[in-house]
Amino acid sequence: MALARMTRPLVVVTNREPYVDERTKTGIRTVQRAGGVVSALDPLLRELGGDWVAWGSGSADRLTAPNGIRPVPLKNPKYRLHRVYLTPEEVQGYYNRYANQGLWPLSHLLIERARFSRQAWSTYRAVNQKFARRVAREMPNNALVFSHDYQLAVFPSALRQLRSDMAIAHFWHIPWPVYPVLKLCPQYQELLRGMLGADVLGFQTLDDAQAFMDSVAHTFRHVAIDRSRGEIAWQGRTIEVKAFPISVDIEAIESLVRSPRISRWAQGIRRHLLAPGQRLGISVDRADYTKGIIPRLEALREFFRRYPQHLGRIVFLQVVVPTRSEVHAYRLLYRQVEEETRRINEEFSQGTWKPLITIRRSIDRPRLMGLFRAADFALVSSLFDGMNLVAKEFVSAQVDRRGVLLLSETTGAAQELSQALPINPWDPEGFAETLDQALSLTPEERAERLAAMQAHLHAHTLYDWVSDILTTLDTVAGSYVES
Ligand code: UDP
Repeated sequence: MALARMTRPLVVVTNREPYVDERTKTGIRTVQRAGGVVSALDPLLRELGGDWVAWGSGSADRLTAPNGIRPVPLKNPKYRLHRVYLTPEEVQGYYNRYANQGLWPLSHLLIERARFSRQAWSTYRAVNQKFARRVAREMPNNALVFSHDYQLAVFPSALRQLRSDMAIAHFWHIPWPVYPVLKLCPQYQELLRGMLGADVLGFQTLDDAQAFMDSVAHTFRHVAIDRSRGEIAWQGRTIEVKAFPISVDIEAIESLVRSPRISRWAQGIRRHLLAPGQRLGISVDRADYTKGIIPRLEALREFFRRYPQHLGRIVFLQVVVPTRSEVHAYRLLYRQVEEETRRINEEFSQGTWKPLITIRRSIDRPRLMGLFRAADFALVSSLFDGMNLVAKEFVSAQVDRRGVLLLSETTGAAQELSQALPINPWDPEGFAETLDQALSLTPEERAERLAAMQAHLHAHTLYDWVSDILTTLDTVAGSYVES
């Protein structure tokens, strides 16, 4: 791997920490967070070593991190986790309000849900500066800093002001809003300036990278931008603005689901949930309004009404992981999902068969991949999604090549997984029709589609994603050290 040649120390900076230590009655329990960022970066740092700076959010975090540093894993450590502790007011202003109730809905074009305030902004900026001070104080000279996402938009410029020796790549995991939408954020100019503190700005798709360059062009009219090369000249530096679609470690997933334990688990799931002749559908999401969970349930209702021949023949397992429950809109959504699920089950259940089964908690990775292997089809129905790793994981885990993926066209993943069946979450009748078609594909058609998508994922792995970003950063950093 090209990364082996990297000579500079690596520092990862994220809002969420990869491991949260929680107090329990009997001691301390370590929880690994669900979420795309962690699933992608933990294996990387375990392999390369280095430092990870993140908000220490667990009730036992201070106990396992004397001096704020927690070895990962605790036994036989591979890297150091530096915990940034936040007050309840900081969490509220920076995370719950500005990031999750402002930038998150705006970036997913759900404008009416977005709320901004100057007070929340000032906390957001202060917390970004706090992260920057921590990195500036504790990290080695000439580090390559790989920071992440919409919670830390102004971190790059804050760090640059403190430490000019470090090279910074910032990756924006969610969609970048087009300029007329971005402008609705009262602090959009400060956000752009903050991001432009980085040397490399990574986005999930070319559309996102172009939308970012458009925003800069409209906002700072004197700035030179080379769109075809993806370069912005900014304060004497050249910033690389590129698409780096995040991916999965398909080989690791394949060997995981082929292991005897997970193979048995996958078979057991089918035996446990399905009667002969029934097929298993699956969806896995955080309970977030961008994931289109309610539109999907509406489409499933439509499906059973229009195509009653499938009644009694499908068991649909929805994994709905509670998330951001401090925010009212999320609690509300969770209740709506429960209510809608109950109504559908009431309308269509027959005898011992009911169409929907819900798992209301996070599932550990091996079992989740086993579920993906076990399924006959998966529904990914996000309204907007930067990438959607679940879609790529489902394809990777389908080693028997039996399943079909229905994938919302407005996900980053849809730009790569072109053999998935495209759906529009806002078109319940079309969605239902596509599901009916999916269930009538021949085994050969299903296998061919999966094989093509698996080949794509073998050629574009998680390690290629990391390697592309960090080698781009390494090259940029090398060039300005020499000059
Ligand atoms: N995930 C998990 N356990 C669960 C649900 C999800 O480990 O019970 C993982 C899933 O495998 C995927 C990530 O969480 O790697 C979700 O990433 P995605 O890009 O699909 O959505 P996000 O939650 O980041 O918006």
